[in-house]
Amino acid sequence: MTATVTHRRRIRICVRGVVQGVGFRPFVYTRAAAHAMTGSVRNDSSGAIIEVEGDATNVDEFLADLTDRAPPLAVIESVETQDLPVVGGTGFVIADTSRSDGGRTLASPDVAMCADCAAEQSDPADRRYRHAFVNCTNCGPRFTIIASLPYDRANTTMADFGMCADCAREYHDPADRRFHAQPVCCPNCGPTLSYRTGDGITAGESALHRARLLLRGGGILAVKGIGGYHLACDAGNEDAVAELRHRKRRGDKPFAVMVPDLSTAHGIADIDDASGRLLSGTQRPIVLVPRHGAAPLADSIAPHNHDLGVMLAYAPLHALLFGLPGDETGPSVLVMTSGNLGGEPICFSDDDALKRLIHLADGWLMHDREILVPCDDSVVRVVDGMELPIRRSRGYSPLPVALPMSVPPSLAVGGDLKNTFAVADQKYAWLSQHIGDMDDLATLAAFDSAERHLERLTGVGPQTIVADSHPGYRSTAWAHRNAGGRPVHSVQHHHAHIASVMAEHGLDGARRVLGFAFDGTGYGPDGAIWGGEMLLADYKGYQRLAQLKYVPLAGGDVSVLRPYRMALSHLWAAGLSWDDGLPSVRACPDDERRILLHQLETGLGCAPTSSMGRLFDAVASLAGVRQTVAYEAQAAIELEGMSRDFDSGTTSYAFAVDMGRTPAVIDPAPVLAAVVSDVDAGVGPGVIGARFHRAVAALVVELAAAVTSGRHTVALSGGVFQNALLLRQVSRALREKGFEVITHRLVPPNDGGLALGQLLVGNSG
Ligand SMILES: [Zn+2]
Ligand SMILES: [Zn+2]
Repeated sequence: MTATVTHRRRIRICVRGVVQGVGFRPFVYTRAAAHAMTGSVRNDSSGAIIEVEGDATNVDEFLADLTDRAPPLAVIESVETQDLPVVGGTGFVIADTSRSDGGRTLASPDVAMCADCAAEQSDPADRRYRHAFVNCTNCGPRFTIIASLPYDRANTTMADFGMCADCAREYHDPADRRFHAQPVCCPNCGPTLSYRTGDGITAGESALHRARLLLRGGGILAVKGIGGYHLACDAGNEDAVAELRHRKRRGDKPFAVMVPDLSTAHGIADIDDASGRLLSGTQRPIVLVPRHGAAPLADSIAPHNHDLGVMLAYAPLHALLFGLPGDETGPSVLVMTSGNLGGEPICFSDDDALKRLIHLADGWLMHDREILVPCDDSVVRVVDGMELPIRRSRGYSPLPVALPMSVPPSLAVGGDLKNTFAVADQKYAWLSQHIGDMDDLATLAAFDSAERHLERLTGVGPQTIVADSHPGYRSTAWAHRNAGGRPVHSVQHHHAHIASVMAEHGLDGARRVLGFAFDGTGYGPDGAIWGGEMLLADYKGYQRLAQLKYVPLAGGDVSVLRPYRMALSHLWAAGLSWDDGLPSVRACPDDERRILLHQLETGLGCAPTSSMGRLFDAVASLAGVRQTVAYEAQAAIELEGMSRDFDSGTTSYAFAVDMGRTPAVIDPAPVLAAVVSDVDAGVGPGVIGARFHRAVAALVVELAAAVTSGRHTVALSGGVFQNALLLRQVSRALREKGFEVITHRLVPPNDGGLALGQLLVGNSG
């Protein structure tokens, strides 16, 4: 036996990544204790700084633990070490953080209530029994309550709540799961609930009781959540849901529903494993899932829609609203929609909610923990077992996206629909939460304040701004207005879409990809409205290899809102007659038909468009699915829903492609002729839709195979690829032909993902 020679070693470790607000310092403490080491850990604005001293072997094991056993919410990007002279000493200190050296900051998103906290909340023996604000190092609000980094209580909206002796003991006890949990509180020292109506205010349990009573009676409740106010009502009560729809001036746009648990979700929708994991995970987005036909829900939740947006209760207050065991029974499914009037930003301050929701809500369930940053619910769907983001917001923002190349400090302002912007520096991009459609002053103001906040939170001071090349976009105007001498790079819309999916997949741009950008609208350099494009692209540039044949979009938005007009335009362009037997023709009043024909023949008030989204509208109209829409892509969404059941076994329509031109021109005329003949023959809309989806999928494969002598990666982006049926068909067909296919996993294919692509293109000039 040889004696083991041990020696002491002291090191400083700098850990960068998402390590603040995720229980990282307590974790460091417990690992240090397990290895009998002394030292300290503190947050600084660039991450966590650890000093440890102990047996050299233990130091090695401790270092391995840092990455191998890190808390579930931590994302460790790098660990740097530096040897220091040993100094001895006892104990381990979690130091207060007061330094700020302008380094890189990664704040954590908000996290849904964890199982441990849920158990305490429903345990009558626990001191946090029925507590509406229970949280711990593994869960609770983060992004929406942090004013600035580092993430310490003083920098959050919990600063005003002094901890009681019991909470302070937990906060300072390294063995406690609330050790240094910044929003820690209890019924004695935390925020309090209140319920307001025109008649007055009640507090605490009776506030909750009255809120539940309102819901049970069919009323509409404004309820303060994590990132803003929701409007809630009983999802099983047709009158209540119809009334909410009426008050919100919502049109047919679907409402999301909230359920207390996964088993309730299974009762109303088809939930596969991947959707179940997303529903019950820490981020708790709204997941779009196929609705059960017989689900006991009001029809007006999602009229004509085959899917349902479902989320699980994620805040402790939600759990109480549904009721704990022993509470009076209330609705088991609630409509939960953003607290706003259609199109406006979500209400997040109490005063604003009382004012702006006055004609929408019958009662307000509120509390006095301030929401600093508004953050809408995220929306995802699952395609082939993979997450497809539709809206990336609460639970995700402000997690950074790693970039495949280093960029200077930049701001990309995104687009005008479903706006999300992004700041970036070196190899990180931080995408904002969902801002909304930039069509009113309130949304522009929300953009302003979110932009300032994200700069503060990340420490990025943009030297370059990137915007869409559309001269009429408000986001582009904002960029020029706020440039202050900084360069503003403009990026073509569909190029940005393709770049965003490339960036997500870590492509460095050395090889060009074959990008299919299919969406509703985007400004083309020829002044036309693009949207059915095949681009050969890298970050530096693109070549337009193919486009959908231009058809006249007569009168702009009016043709977007009335798909029958698009159908008539497409028929006219294809040389097909406006036969009275066609649903689109019947839907168009005589006067309008005459004026439209005049417009098409003279070009008056028409813009040429190659939009794939509009072609979906036209086909949906011809098939009789829908003639007018109340929200973007409604006709296409309903067509997709109807087509799913006929997905297999049906034949396909076929586009004509003229490869002899540059760019190649995709002519939908044969598709339209076949649709018309199917309509005449009495073929149902589901079969027509299925044949059309297959035609688009076949088109993509045909084009990809035609233009690539060598092998290219194929990138799919643009709002049309939110269509799960199409995305699945296109991806599978391409892969069967040997193509590598990249699709969106981190940011939405719609304009909510545009800013990421803008960053890379704008910095590659
Ligand atoms: Zn917890
Ligand atoms: Zn307390």
